[in-house]
Amino acid sequence: MKKICIFNQKGGVGKTTTNINLSCGLAMLGYKVLAIDIDPQGNTTSGLGFDKSTLQNSIYDVLTDENVKLNDVIIESQLVNNLFIAPAKMDLAGAEVEMTGAENREIILKNKLKDIESDFDFVFIDCPPSLGILTINALSACDSVIIPIQCEFYALEGVGQLINTINLVKKSLNKDLEVEGVVMTMYDSRTNLCTEVYKEVTKYFGEKVFKTTIPRNIRLAEAPSFGLPINLYDDKCKGAEAYEDLANEFIKRQGGN
Ligand code: ADP
Ligand code: MG
Repeated sequence: MKKICIFNQKGGVGKTTTNINLSCGLAMLGYKVLAIDIDPQGNTTSGLGFDKSTLQNSIYDVLTDENVKLNDVIIESQLVNNLFIAPAKMDLAGAEVEMTGAENREIILKNKLKDIESDFDFVFIDCPPSLGILTINALSACDSVIIPIQCEFYALEGVGQLINTINLVKKSLNKDLEVEGVVMTMYDSRTNLCTEVYKEVTKYFGEKVFKTTIPRNIRLAEAPSFGLPINLYDDKCKGAEAYEDLANEFIKRQGGN
């Protein structure tokens, strides 16, 4: 079971969109996938068609109550076979404070994941846009990180801090943590800016950058409001094609896994 977190402390770079659509893409290829939402905004949860207001248990309970196991909150997607989700809702915002006093507060998620160690092929964790205790829990719990980077002039701004955070976690909590890959989002191949930014990011991350880029595509922005992953909303659009390619490239990199 490989655990991967989708991490970039910048908001709006495509973390949640990537979490939703890469998870779905891999589930549709036949892998058993768990998508964990640890962002209090719960956008992965609603984007996969779950109504946050009617959810009983969520990842909040897993992180703040030692008696609640991940299995108690995991729900099966009604849309996609092989896809499961550990949902989040607004109450998760309070978890940061509640966890502050807890013993081993940085590795609560890591410890809870031990109960389901062989239940899935892949676990994806959608991080909030911050470097708080929720993100630290995600980074401590996972094997590797996928970093979405938005194709814009300031693309590399904040990347130094992001790498510092990864290195800090490596030093103290998770020495085997690796960068799995970097995915360029909202990419427009017709513009020089995007081509330049891709080159810059490749200079920094080398082979880690996925060959697949995710185009700016209005369908990707629309799909979450219908609670649908992109390939169920419009499987012919550029965004759907791109995330399908990303899932295939990801699997190829796993050496067939
Ligand atoms: P993050 O989780 O990093 O904050 P999101 O995945 O929520 O980022 O994306 C931010 C916003 O941009 C959302 O409204 C989303 O629907 C939209 N979006 C994400 N990726 C794309 C894309 N490739 N093309 C167009 N809109 C996108
Ligand atoms: Mg998000």
